[in-house]
Amino acid sequence: MSSKEKFIPYFLPSIGKDEIFEVVDSLKNNWLTMGPKVIAFEKALEDYLGVKHVITLNSCTAALHLSLIVSGLKIGDEVITSPLTFAATGNTIAHLGLKPVLVDINPETLNIDPKRIESAITPKTKAIVVVHYGGKSADLNEITSIANNHNLTIIEDAAHAIGTLYNGKKIGNHGNLTCYSFYATKNMTTGEGGAIATNNDEIAKRLRKLRLHGISKDAWKRYQKEGSWYYEIEECGWKYNLTDIQAAIGLHQIKKLDSFIRKRQELAKLYNTELSKIKGIKLPYQNFSLDDSLHLYPIILENYNRDQFIKKMAESKIGTSVHFIPLHLHPFYKKAFKYKEGNFPETEKIFKGLVSLPLYPKMSKKDVEKVVKTIKDIISN
Ligand SMILES: *Cc1c(COP(=O)(O)O)cnc(C)c1O
Repeated sequence: MSSKEKFIPYFLPSIGKDEIFEVVDSLKNNWLTMGPKVIAFEKALEDYLGVKHVITLNSCTAALHLSLIVSGLKIGDEVITSPLTFAATGNTIAHLGLKPVLVDINPETLNIDPKRIESAITPKTKAIVVVHYGGKSADLNEITSIANNHNLTIIEDAAHAIGTLYNGKKIGNHGNLTCYSFYATKNMTTGEGGAIATNNDEIAKRLRKLRLHGISKDAWKRYQKEGSWYYEIEECGWKYNLTDIQAAIGLHQIKKLDSFIRKRQELAKLYNTELSKIKGIKLPYQNFSLDDSLHLYPIILENYNRDQFIKKMAESKIGTSVHFIPLHLHPFYKKAFKYKEGNFPETEKIFKGLVSLPLYPKMSKKDVEKVVKTIKDIISN
């Protein structure tokens, strides 16, 4: 390998001139925080998703937090979710004095296994946080029918799934509250950012208030010409709003999202074709559908040490990642909720060989070919 050979990072964002000009426009117009661009971005998201209300926030973590709050849960209530997820999904549940009740995944989809949900439900269960792992939708038909039988709220962690279709409709149209992330590495970005989609007018109104300290009426307009100095704190909210500088990026990213997803799908198809020729690798997205936004391209090593593999890939100048270290294996979850190794065998089996390969619109087919060749060299040596 020549030392000049280029590094293929795990992720690169796709930021174009449009995003740059729009951010500069915000800076030049002296409106930096939440304002007209946030409102326009929310409208663009509502149109794209086909939902009544989108409330933007400064992260998906904030979206999950507020979604749990407006679901009216009480301390000690139980919330079901998947162990194969990011800290945000479990931590927001724990923050509110709720108990995250983890339910093992289906190893074929890497999503929560609906068949295991029923037996985890107790009289204290009040909600299910459904993670759409990798942008492949969870089995919402099955989960919705269980939720309806037990009067549970469905909150979707769609951090990976903006643009994903389920039953012909975008994720955001099926549950009660759907949370998105615009973090730098996600399918579309605002640097940091998030949003909640809901069709419920009352809940939308409360969410808009809660993101700005619980202050009544368009608090963001206070410094505009038509704004008033007067406000009332109606309940104890948070400071969770997005800024116009961030929305400036989002306004253009949302227009490009479908083309980003198509490019991901093309590259994933190439990965599938080439990697299926190599023995010892399981490809969870071998039969992906064009409905899947493919936020991740995970592979599962069947008999090669994962940590060693990641190290060798890095030595060959290829970035990889792992999504995720299962929640129940983290010290906090062991200590606070008495989880231990062995609790979720399917998740643990998958985790042992799990690696995410680089997948983003800026990658070329040549990049994918290099990744595949490197994997072949590592695994067959
Ligand atoms: C990234 C991510 C989040 C958190 O998103 P932020 O916008 O960084 O708060 C939540 N859930 C999952 C599954 C994620 O991957």
